[in-house]
Formats: sequence, C-alpha cells, structure tokens
Amino acid sequence: MPREIYLDANATTPVLPAAPASAQHVMETLYGNPSSTHYAGLKAQDMLANVRARATRVLGAGDGRIVFVSGATEAIQTAVLSALCAVRERRAQGHPTGRLLLFGATEHKAVPESLAHWNQVLGLGLEIRALPVNMEGQHNLATLRLLAADAALLCTMAANNETGVVSDLTAIGSVLDQTGSRALWLVDCVQALGKLPLHLADTRIDYAAFSGHKLYAPKGVGMLYVRAQTPFTALMAGGGQEGGQRSGTENMAGIAALGAVLKALEEGNTFRSHNALRVLRDRLVESLRAALPEVVFNAPLEKTLPTTLNFSVPGFSSKELLDLFDAAAIRVSSGSACSAAQAAPSYVLQAMGLPAWRAASAVRMSFGPATDDAFIALACARIADCGAALRASGLTRSARAVQPAEGVLQFSAEGANSWLVLDPASRHCVVVDPLPELLGRLHTCIDNQNLQVLAVVCSSADPSRVSARQALVQRLEQCLPSRIGTCDTTGWPAGCGAIRLADGSPANALHIGRQCFAQLALPDSMVHLLGQAEAGCLPAEAVRFAFCGDALLAGSDCDPVRRPRSPMAQLALDRLVPVLHPDTVLCQAADPHGRIADTFQAALAPASHRDQTAACMHLDAKALEAFLSEHANTRLIDVRETFEHLVSPPPTWWGRVPELVPLSCLVNHLGGWLQDCQTPLVFICRSGGRSARTAACLRRLGHPNAWHLAGGLANSLAPPAAVLGNKETADEPAFT
Ligand code: PLP
Repeated sequence: MPREIYLDANATTPVLPAAPASAQHVMETLYGNPSSTHYAGLKAQDMLANVRARATRVLGAGDGRIVFVSGATEAIQTAVLSALCAVRERRAQGHPTGRLLLFGATEHKAVPESLAHWNQVLGLGLEIRALPVNMEGQHNLATLRLLAADAALLCTMAANNETGVVSDLTAIGSVLDQTGSRALWLVDCVQALGKLPLHLADTRIDYAAFSGHKLYAPKGVGMLYVRAQTPFTALMAGGGQEGGQRSGTENMAGIAALGAVLKALEEGNTFRSHNALRVLRDRLVESLRAALPEVVFNAPLEKTLPTTLNFSVPGFSSKELLDLFDAAAIRVSSGSACSAAQAAPSYVLQAMGLPAWRAASAVRMSFGPATDDAFIALACARIADCGAALRASGLTRSARAVQPAEGVLQFSAEGANSWLVLDPASRHCVVVDPLPELLGRLHTCIDNQNLQVLAVVCSSADPSRVSARQALVQRLEQCLPSRIGTCDTTGWPAGCGAIRLADGSPANALHIGRQCFAQLALPDSMVHLLGQAEAGCLPAEAVRFAFCGDALLAGSDCDPVRRPRSPMAQLALDRLVPVLHPDTVLCQAADPHGRIADTFQAALAPASHRDQTAACMHLDAKALEAFLSEHANTRLIDVRETFEHLVSPPPTWWGRVPELVPLSCLVNHLGGWLQDCQTPLVFICRSGGRSARTAACLRRLGHPNAWHLAGGLANSLAPPAAVLGNKETADEPAFT
C-alpha cells in the first residue's frame, strides 16, 4: 500500500507532533481540575490561562473574550444564541432590532441550521435570508447594502471550506458602518486560522468561531471569540467553568494540544507563508492541468486560500475522480454528498451560479499550511500517475490508440446510462442513448480507441435525447468526417439491411462485427437488440442484450422491477415476449436506484416476486477469509474501473488474485455468472458501494451465491502510513 497523500485538510488535518505531546503532558502531569483550588488545580488553571492568553495574541482579540468550546459548531451555536437572546431583550425593551437574520449563501450548514434552530426555539419569528454571492463566490455587497439596516444578525465566513474563496471582510464591515446597521456580526473563521492574518479587535466582528481539528489540533476542541461588550448568553449551564460562559469541566488535553498549535503559529517557524503556500498550490495546479487537460477550476485562484483547489473535469463525476485519486492513495473530497447512483450537487457551487455539471462533479483538494515541498512533489507525481491511468484506459485524450474494450460498455451519470456497443476486431461501434453530460467522455473514448461509429441511436424521440444525439454526431463529425451517414430522428442509418426477429416480424438491422444490432419499433419508443443472427433471423435465445431506453419504466418511478407497471410498459413487455429470451440482459437508459441492469426474466416477474434482494450478502474482511477457506471455488471479482486497477492493482487475498471486471463492463458477464449459480461470487471495490450494488443486482436476478466485501478495500487492508506533509522516504514528519 503506497504512502497516503492526504489532500483533504479542509475536512480535518492530522495533528502537529507537538499537539499530542502537549496533551499527553497535561494528562499525565497537569491532570488537576482547573476549578480546584489546590496546587494541582492551580497548575492546570495556569496552563489554561496561558493558552487563552496565547489565543488572544494570535487572534488579535484585544480585550475580547476567548471561550474554549468543543469545536466550531458549538462556537456558532453559542454566538447565534447570544445574538438572538440580545435581539429578544432589545425587542422586549421596545428598541428596534431589525427583522432579518442574514447569512452568506455559501456558509457551512452549521450557520443556517443554527439560525433556524434558535429562531424557532426562541420563538422570534425573524426572517432568515441568504445573502447571495457572485460567480466568484464573494458576497453581493449591493444586496447587503440594501438589507443591512434591517438585519439583526449577519453571518459571513472568512474563507469558504469548499472553494477556499476568501471573503472581503473589510468591505462587509464598511457596508455595515456606512448603512448604520445595528446588526451583530458573526464570522466563521474556521478555514482562515493559520492561513490569513486575523486582527479581530481591530474590526467590528462581534463573534468569531474556530475549530482545532482544521489546523493540526485534535477534534473536540475549538474557540469562540466574543468582542468586548458584545452580548453573550451561555449555551451550557452548570458548574460555571470558563467564567460561567461554558459550563462543564474543560477539555484540558484538547486545549493543551490547541495551545501547542497556537504556539507554533505565534513563533512562526512551523507554518509556511502565504506566498510559499501559493507556490505549492501552483505546482498542484500545473500537475492537474497536465493530467486532466480539460480541468476547470471553480473559483478564481487569486481570490482563494493558497491551500485550497476546487475543480471539475467535463465528463467525470466527483465520485469517479474520487475513486481514481483514492486508488492512487490521494485523499481528496468530493465537495458533494454521494448516494448510490446520484451525486447531490454542491450547494456552494450552485449558489455561485456555476453550471449544473460543475456543481455535480466538483473535487476539492486542500492541504495544511505546514505542508512541505517534498510532499507536494510526491502529490504531483501521483497526480501524473492518475493522468497516465486515465489516458491508458482511453478516458482522456491519448496520443496512442488504446486497445479497444470488448462488448457492451455502460457509461453512467446522474442515475442514467448511455451504452457503447463495440467489436474490437473490426473497431466498429454503435452508441445508444448518449447523455448530454457524457458527450465528451463518449467522444474521447471513441476517438482514443479509433472506433468507426456505425450509428448513434436513441430509444425515443424525446427532444432532450434527440438533441444529445445530434450534439454527439456533430462532435464526432467535426473530427471524424464521413463515419455516420443520413439517418432518421432516432439515429437509425438509412439504407441498412433487415432481419427477421423470432416472431417472424421484420426489423432494421446492421452488423457490428459478427453481431447483429436490430431495431424494434414500439408504440412510442425503440428497442435495440444485440445478438448473433443465423440465416437472416435473430432467434430469441440469441438476443444477449436489449437496449430498451425508458420503455419499461413504471410511470414516474423509473423502476421497472419494484413498482407495478404502467400500461405503456406492459404493452412494451408484451411486444418483447416473443422476441427476447428470459436471460436477455436489459440495458436501460434510466437507473436512478443504481441497479446496473436487469434480465428480461426479472422484468417479467409479477410485482410480488420482483424484489427479492438478499438480506445478507455482506462479508467483512474476517468473514471473507473464513468464506474463502470454506469455499475453495469462490471467484473474487474486483469491480473497480480499469483506471483504478492501473494505479492500484488488486490486492492478493490469501493467495488469490481477484479477476478484474470493471463495473462499466459488468453487463457482459451477467449471463455467464447467472448460468453458474453454484459458484460463489465475491465482489470487491474501494468502499463497498459498487460491490454491494453488483451483489444486489446478481441476487435480484436470481444468483443466490453473490456476496461482497462490506466496507470495501479501504476498510480491509492495513492502513497506509500517514504522511504528514512529508517526504515519501522519510519516516519522520517534517513540518517546515
Ligand atoms: N465552519 C466551517 C467553515 C467548517 O469547515 C466546519 C467544518 O467542516 C465547521 C464550521 C464545523 O466545525 P466543527 O467540526 O469544529 O464543528
């Protein structure tokens, strides 16, 4: 397992070596309770006072207060509660307060959720309103100017966690001053500490939230700055610790560890300067541009933290890029929460008004300010490996023609599928149901494999499908003239041959190598069949695949197997019965539940029999070991994509090397696996998501012996040695 390149510092950082040392010292030596009045207590109190004094200096807090809390979420709660209690009090005294709770549209969820929570708990009925940001992620000051006089509380972040966009706090403060706003002002400084200069007492900021674990201290400790004379209400009442501002015995180990980080900040030898960090980030940018030539950065680099990059690559989902980087032991974050088949787009990028594909495919790469040159050099080398893997697997432009894949390839995006049917010997292919999001990807794939496109077909005359089809044809024709001739609106080429289907009906057909690709018209859509014809006829048992678009969808549910069928879907099934075999694999256009594919038999079954997914198909690493020794004939199958295999070959499990069947090629193997239900199949992947979907698919289609490695390779192999921003060869962490 290669050394881990941890580039997700905005999520959390490893700890600075001095931090656990300080924590340990406190736990072993200064273990007194700082509220005790004996000698041990006084020593603990002294440590607490020292860290607070250091925090005051580092943050430029002047005569403001520093309260130690559990993290930024608690700091934000306390600030919001304090501000809203003050509003309630002013209101009760008959003073004007403003009726708006304003927050930047790209704030961390802790802010709007706290506003909604406390507004409701306190019954204030204030209006919570998002302050828009521009396409560069910065607050719209004109809108703020309009609203400031009516604002009771304004919440803005110093720097955004997803994009690194730095807010113009000086300009925001000026707008508040110029408009005579009485609004209290909370600034989430979580991502700013250690990366931007802070002189809090010189500003009109009332509350500022900080989190230890975003800057090399452990999780569970943070700070709240409260400006002198700013209203304060404790969130936690009890023993009166922290001067009554936050009851509960202090997290002394965490505070001591945070103190070690603050000491490093104050002394100035551990963290890199802004300019030095920019140089490091520029190297990452260069290597990303070389590896992923189409990469686009989602925020202007000159307006972001020098430690954060947020980018998208046309044709790739965040999940795919995450899979690739994770295989290369580069830890990045998707910036969007992923479910089985669909990614929730980033609300931050949506608020910036970026196109949907960028919001749905963003990747964040972030490093801490203690990172050194050698670490970035290693990161760049690994990024280059990722680029080479993508080129070798034909997914990004490659100077050399890539060996064509075999059979049917599944391209998925946003819970829908496009299909590429190809014959490696003749290099002929047909594209079925191209999705707009996948045009670039399909084009590159076809180009890199030097394929001859016989047709680009869609299974319905739905305008969005037709326009995506036309767009792909145009792209292909620009660089590959004369490959596709005249065709009808669904893309069926004029002048090709005909064939008889199993029920004797005629159908248009063309040949892809030795396979026949036939078109069957349904009342409102087309189904395309693939199989080997004999003497001008395509018997039902020869039809291996049916590309049925949305023909079998059950009403709005898009799930042909779980829900009762719509009348149209029933009509389509009835038409297909005489021409398909029960084992024919159905390749559909919509796949919102991540089901991969179905067989005709499964789609035909009555609703009550259609959802017999196995209750227990999960094996953890220990159970897998036992399973393999008990079932010697087990086939271990790694369903990660080729580009992942190239940067991280599958591990050997007790002497067995897994077979490689990328999920995108899986449908080619379904038929064979389903014919041999006695042989156990165990699927593995990176995190257990894809392997679970594959095992569930096989179980659903009638294979009782399909299993998967729960938690994936990530949870089953020895963890890689962490690299804290250091050289691959050195064991000693080096913070320079
Ligand atoms: N604010 C920002 C900008 C963050 O990035 C985070 C953490 O993700 C938080 C608040 C919440 O911090 P904590 O984990 O300390 O509660």
